[in-house]
Amino acid sequence: MQRRIDVGVLGATGMVGQQFVLQLAAHPWFRLVWVGASERSAGQRYGDAAPWRLPVTPPEAIANLTVEPARPGNAPELVFSAMDASVAGEIEQAFAKAGHVVVSNSRNHRMDADVPLLVPEINTDHVALLETQRARRGWGGSIVTNPNCSTVFLSMALAALKPFGIESVLVTTLQALSGAGYPGVASLDAVGNVVPFIDGEEPKIESETRKILGTLENGQVTPHPMAVSAQATRVAVVNGHTESIAVSLASRPPIDEVREAFGRFTGAPQRHGLPTAPLQPLLYLPESNRPQPRLDVDRDGGMTVSIGRLRTCPVLGYKFFALGHNTVRGAAGAAVLNAELLVAEGVLAAPVQG
Ligand code: NAP
Repeated sequence: MQRRIDVGVLGATGMVGQQFVLQLAAHPWFRLVWVGASERSAGQRYGDAAPWRLPVTPPEAIANLTVEPARPGNAPELVFSAMDASVAGEIEQAFAKAGHVVVSNSRNHRMDADVPLLVPEINTDHVALLETQRARRGWGGSIVTNPNCSTVFLSMALAALKPFGIESVLVTTLQALSGAGYPGVASLDAVGNVVPFIDGEEPKIESETRKILGTLENGQVTPHPMAVSAQATRVAVVNGHTESIAVSLASRPPIDEVREAFGRFTGAPQRHGLPTAPLQPLLYLPESNRPQPRLDVDRDGGMTVSIGRLRTCPVLGYKFFALGHNTVRGAAGAAVLNAELLVAEGVLAAPVQG
């Protein structure tokens, strides 16, 4: 028996917020007791306020929670954030100032020099940025972030290749509709179509990837020197961002070694045996027509990134596809894994054994 840690979710009514509810519903360490959203939803029963769009319904106890306004006061110490980026920046700061540990999914603070931008398999050491954050901001709490959804999958694939010396990267994303929130892209724009523009997405992929793979020294992260060029498209897929990636590697390894590097890739979540950690963060699929969102997106609860079609590229040397679940590994699952890491690293108190 163990007493779980009470947690809250800001932006609980949105697409990512709903995914948080499912991730937390049966979590062995965390117990969802508080849900917050905009004034439009505040005061309503969660089950009535959330335009539920996931195939599994929320547990009755959570559906019966009353949605709170997004103000610090009665929320638990640990709050996850899935708020619209137009409001997340200031609200997250207010919560951190009031002593909350905010594990955020929103873009607002990701590139702040003193905010860890974490993918626990890659850069657990960046948790140490919290010391800089505490010293600079004087908050009682803190903010930790996870990357943009497309960045998570790209950075995980690249982290496996980092020992070969990454020089430059070209990535084209084919991003699912659920990545645009709800109601998202109008059906007349989405069905039978490809939209070659997602506002703000390409700069995020390019800068966040370099920060995640960067080096922490003397309390600051020096971005990885590789060049990253991204093109983002929206496609008529419900869940799962596919990425076409080409990469130049300084040591020019044989293609078999590159394939093996994907299979060998693990990190702190697997070492610690964290509850949300996939057994295999990157799974190489040998079939010539994989990965596909419909067949592969839910692997290991949506936490595994599928890789396929690795081959030589006459331009950059190597090319392959990657696929990940945008609202799970790219959002709510990523944040829950970050919070588990904070417990494992002693930043948050562990659940009490009874
Ligand atoms: P969404 O479906 O539009 O949900 C937005 C959430 O923000 C809702 O809960 C909404 O509450 C809340 N909100 C809006 N205005 C607010 C206010 N003034 N105060 C407090 N809460 C407010 O969006 P989403 O797709 O879940 O995305 C949420 C965040 O995660 C965004 O920052 C997004 O960039 C990021 N993200 C999304 C994905 C993805 O795949 N969808 C992946 C990675 C990161 P109401 O229902 O009350 O309006």
